[in-house]
Amino acid sequence: MGCSFQTVCLACHHQFISSSGGGFSFDELHCDVCGSLKTVLYEKHKDYVELKQRYFASDSKPPERVNESSPVDPVLDPPSEVPPEDVSLEMVESYLDRIVGRCECGGQFRLYAPIRCPKCRSDEVKTTVMIVLYD
Ligand SMILES: [Zn+2]
Ligand SMILES: [Zn+2]
Repeated sequence: MGCSFQTVCLACHHQFISSSGGGFSFDELHCDVCGSLKTVLYEKHKDYVELKQRYFASDSKPPERVNESSPVDPVLDPPSEVPPEDVSLEMVESYLDRIVGRCECGGQFRLYAPIRCPKCRSDEVKTTVMIVLYD
């Protein structure tokens, strides 16, 4: 679920509305330079959803070490199944880079970019009042 917040910039005191989180069917990305918002609809980018799920899966479950204590005979040991490639945040974001492109300012849209003041681009902002809930 996403929320919008009344937000105030601590650097220039500009007030603006920021949002975060995305919803059940989309993600919200912020440019890492100017903070502008981009929405990615899941239904249009199923490969991205799958990649992100793999990222979260590999993040929460470190790969188990099998047979760590017992030495493995290299001759008798059958070729082990190749585990699915770990997905890093960099991979998710470089995929996003391909599907949403670059921001017009030249920055890259990221999942976890900080909220920035649209006026002075400072990320020293403070959210005050939650305004809208949506999904
Ligand atoms: Zn930008
Ligand atoms: Zn500002």
